[in-house]
Formats: sequence, C-alpha cells, structure tokens
Amino acid sequence: MAVAEKEQLETFEFQAEVQQLLKLVINSLYTDKDIFLRELVSNASDAHDRLRLEALTRPEIVAEGEPEIRVIPDEKARTRTLTLRDNGIGMSRQEVISNIGTIAKSGTAEMLRSLKEKPAGEGAAQLIGQFGVGFYSSFMVADRVELVTRRAGEATATHWESTGDGSYTISEAEREGHGTTITLHLKPVDRENGIDDYAERWTLTRIIKQHCDFITYPIVLVAEKEVDAMEAGQDAPEAEAREIEEKVLNSRLPIWARSPSEVKEEEYRDYYKTISHDWTEPFEIVHQRGEGTIEYQALLFIPSKAPRDLFYVGAKPGLKLYVKRVLVMESYEDLLPRYLRFVRGVVDSPDLPLNVSRETLQDDRNIRKIRQALVKKVLGVLTAMQEGNRERYTEFWGQFGRAIKEGVGQDHEQRETLNKLLMFESSRDPEALTTLGEYVERMPEEQQAIYYLTGPSRSVIENNPSLEMFREKGFEVLYLSDPVDELVVQSLWDFEGKKLKSVGKGVVDLGGEEEKKDEKTGEEEAYKPLLEALEKKLETWVKQVRLSGRLSKSPAVLVGAEHDYSPHLERMLATGINDAPKQRRIMELNPGHEVVRKLKARFDANPEDPAVAEYAEILFGWGLIAEGSPLHDPVRFNQLVAELMGRGL
Ligand code: ADP
Ligand code: MG
Repeated sequence: MAVAEKEQLETFEFQAEVQQLLKLVINSLYTDKDIFLRELVSNASDAHDRLRLEALTRPEIVAEGEPEIRVIPDEKARTRTLTLRDNGIGMSRQEVISNIGTIAKSGTAEMLRSLKEKPAGEGAAQLIGQFGVGFYSSFMVADRVELVTRRAGEATATHWESTGDGSYTISEAEREGHGTTITLHLKPVDRENGIDDYAERWTLTRIIKQHCDFITYPIVLVAEKEVDAMEAGQDAPEAEAREIEEKVLNSRLPIWARSPSEVKEEEYRDYYKTISHDWTEPFEIVHQRGEGTIEYQALLFIPSKAPRDLFYVGAKPGLKLYVKRVLVMESYEDLLPRYLRFVRGVVDSPDLPLNVSRETLQDDRNIRKIRQALVKKVLGVLTAMQEGNRERYTEFWGQFGRAIKEGVGQDHEQRETLNKLLMFESSRDPEALTTLGEYVERMPEEQQAIYYLTGPSRSVIENNPSLEMFREKGFEVLYLSDPVDELVVQSLWDFEGKKLKSVGKGVVDLGGEEEKKDEKTGEEEAYKPLLEALEKKLETWVKQVRLSGRLSKSPAVLVGAEHDYSPHLERMLATGINDAPKQRRIMELNPGHEVVRKLKARFDANPEDPAVAEYAEILFGWGLIAEGSPLHDPVRFNQLVAELMGRGL
C-alpha cells in the first residue's frame, strides 16, 4: 500500500513567480499573520459559491450536504495542526496544479516581474504588501501544508503537499464527498513575530469573528468542549474523555444587509479585501440601500489604486450580483456602465429572478432601475468629493480619471455630470488641474470659446507657436496630453454654452477691433500672390497657406482645418500602420515677422527667385519641428539650413 502510494507521488516545481512569492511570504513581509485564516475561509466560501453556480447549469453536479466551512484545530498532533474543511466545488488534479502551482492573476505576476528588477528591500516589501497572496499566506504560519481535494462530479481526489520551498508533490487520494481539506502544520507560536496560537479555540474564534463574520456560509469550529477548571480537576483529565463540540462562529449576516450605522469601518475593509484581491485599503466605501419601487442593497468600493489591467480589453467588471443573498453572478457587467468598471462590490436584490442568465437579466426592468440608481450614486459621491475635498478628488483622478473620460463618450444620460467631473492641465498653472467650470469662470469677457491643444506632453504643447496670440491676450488654454483626450474632445462639443475649440485648428481671430480688421483685409490682398506661390510649392503636404491670427513671435505655424485630426492623433493612429493616410496641413504665416516681410519683398521683386521656394520648405520644416512632429525629409532640411547659414555670414 505504502509502496503503491509512493509510486504515484509526483514532484512538481512551482512556477518561478510562485517561488518568488513564497519566499517573500515566508520571510514574513506581512505583519498581520492572522489574515491567512481570512484568505482560506474566503477561498472556501468562493468554492461554495462556485458549486452553487455550476449546479444551476450542470445537472450532473449535485451538492452533497449543507454547505459549511469546518475549522478543526488539533493541539495534540505531533506538529500542532489546523485543518479547514469545506464541501465546496473542490479541484481536479489539473486544477490543483494550475490554481495552486501558478499565478494566474495578471496584476500579481506583473508586480512580481517588476520586483525582480528592483533590489529586494523596503520598497519591495511595501509593494508586495499591496497584493493579496491568497492561499500562499498559509505558509506564513505553517511549515508544511497539505491539501486533499475532490472536484464535484469526479470520482478521485488529489493530495497536494508542500513545505513552501521550490516544489510540491501530488498524488492520488481518497476523500469522502466533494470539497477541499487543507491541513496546516503550524509553526511554533512566536507572538513577537505575529504568530499566534492558531490551534487554540479562542484565537480562532477571535480571528473569525473579526475578519470573517460576513461570510454567508456557516464557519463551524470543531474543538474540544470547554470544561471549566474545577470540573476538569474532578473528572478524568485524560484527553480521550473530553467531548468534541461544534459551534458556528459567524453571524452569517452579509455585511451589505446590515444597517450602515452598525457596520464598523474595519468590517467593510475586511470584506473589500476578500472580494477584491486587493490588500490596500479601499479609497471610498458606498453602502446604499434602495427602498422605493425596487428593493436592493449595494455595497460599493472605489479602490485606492487602479488595477494594472483596467484599460486592457479583457478587464472584468467587479460587481457580484446576489438575489436574496444567493450569489447568481460572479462578475456582473450590466449593473454599472463599462467606464465605471473600477468599482468593486456587491449588489443584492430580492426583486430579481433567481434562476437567471446574463441575457434575460439585461432586459430586466429592475436591473435597469438599479443600474440607474447606482450610477447616480457613484457619480454623486465623486461630485461631492470634487467639491468638498479637491486634494482627495485629485488623488482619485490620478488613478481613475481616464475611466471617467471614457464615460464622456459613452454615457449620454450622465453627460453633464461627467463633464463637470473632468479635470485638465492648463496654461494657467503648471501644477494644479482645472475643471471646465473653473475655466469658464475665469474666462475674460471677450473670450468666446474654451480653448485647448492636444499633444504628446505638456512641454511639447507649451512650445507650440499656435499658443502665442492666446498667451498675449491672456486666454487660458487647456493642455491635453493624455492619449484619450483626443477622444474626449471628439465627444465634448461644448460646456455651459461655450464651444470647445482647438488652438491648432480653424481660423483664429482674436483681435476684435474694426480698424484692425480693415488693415488685415488690405494685408491679405497684398500677400495673396506670395501665398499662392508657396501653396503651389508645398502642394504635397499643405492644402492652404494663409496669414495667421494666432502668431505674435514666430514666423509660421502649421494648423488643421476645423475637422482634421490633430497631428498628435494622426501619429497615434499611424503607429503600426505602414501607409497610414497623411492629412495635408494648413500653413499660416505671421505678416508681423521680419522673415515673412522680407520674403514678401523678395517675391515682389522677382517671383522666380529660387530663395522663395527654399524658404517655403524651410518654413514648413520649421513648423513641423515647432509642433513636435517629425520632418518629412530631415536630410534635405539640413542641407537647406546649411546653405542658409552660409549665406548669412
Ligand atoms: P484567489 O482566491 O485570489 O483566486 P488564492 O491564492 O486564494 O487566490 O487561491 C487560488 C485558487 O485556488 C483559487 O482561485 C481557487 O481556484 C483555488 N482554491 C483555493 N482554495 C480552494 C478551495 N477551498 N476550494 C476550491 N478551490 C480552491
Ligand atoms: Mg483567495
């Protein structure tokens, strides 16, 4: 028998990331060791949830017995042990290997990769402290961990064992009923380093009441009946004589079903950690109970940090849907619009059908009503934060601003609210962000529109010659350097009756006085032949050459027509495409600039002067550099400049 077992015993290496993670865990980077129990209990709770969900759609899956999570300490075992036993979904052999031997969560794996590049030290410790290590946290308190599990619907069980070094073993095993049993061979008690006596009933009771009270399945402590000292003295003191007692430790009342005034901050935080796999504290907690035409309870969390995959295509929304306290959907997407996918939490309602599919839910009137209420609530919380505590809101904005910007194009119902939530950099202050409302309030009376300019970075935008006249007039310009800003301005037409206008597009006429206008028309007439000649020379890249109303210092600038893409967007779109179509630009000249005036004189004297054609090219290249665009032909440009320098000396 023993021989047969040995033959089946296979040894596996942990994935490199897991090995690294285990090292960090074992070297006690987490100060609060107690939370290993929360992690194991929450895994067991997830396993019950999963069993229920699978049983809904797969008739061959039948739950055996009432769901429970048993906590069984043994102080008398050779190495003191703590066993957790659930009758949840269990794992197949393959699932054990992939779930326990590798890290699937992109965030954790990525974090570990970035850790590798840094020397291990304080920073590393802090970084890892933000990530949940789930099952592996058991190695904080145990030298050896055994796991026996059998998947519902399968006949054989799997035994897994590891001491937390580089490898683990797997063998076939037997288990009565489906579910998972985890046995921790406990490290010696070491209170100085946070290792409490985890085989002791009061320690376990305390931790479970503190961290797991909201778990909806009964957590049953299976331990020796307490005997008071007197009685113990009289009766036979032998261990065998003692009775085993079972006691449910948690109140099982889900946290969201309780009155907000009765829930402690710490309970919310614990709950957040079990559902989010995020070990940092939640940034904002929203506990809402709807009691109107439709009854529901919602407990929502805004995380402190945006998960790394938030802007990946596959990013999952974080809301769990319960109906009458039974989980019906693990990660439900129709309760909040996609742009609010960073919100984690749970929604429970007795007014929804229990046996549901995604499709039928989508059309459910009650779901739509709950969704409306939740969106309103979340945006309301953010609006209040923006108005009441700008510093805090700016912190939020740094993490999730891009998601809110996404919403501007997606959620037309909430358009106005979302527009008010937007924050931008501007020419006014290099540090502080501004809202559109504040911008409008500051607008001088003669300013007609909200001006902005997009570009790859603040410094590139700042140096764009298009801004000169705006600066001179004291008109503030929003600097939009986030790639999604290009999309925001596509759907953000106006704000409080003021149109949004790009500084780099269309005709700009900031001087209002009549006499100036007359003067301009005269100038335009005089320049016409030169402008036409330049237009012809630059035909390939330029669709129009005209006099500028936006320059005060520079000789020339390149701009776009009202509905052209900005050069910044064009470059972003062209990334990866070989023959991306190029838009022709508009070149504007500053008639107040010496170079432009002299060029005109030269042209007037001799329209065939070769210098005119060369200057056309140089001015165009100059315009490209000024806005941060690449030159079309850097070699040619350099030759022209070299010749020019020669002539100048
Ligand atoms: P997480 O819970 O965040 O996924 P864990 O490290 O806590 O990460 O657990 C890893 C995986 O192991 C779980 O996702 C689950 O698939 C599996 N697992 C852990 N404990 C159990 C259990 N008691 N029953 C079934 N599967 C489990
Ligand atoms: Mg877990």
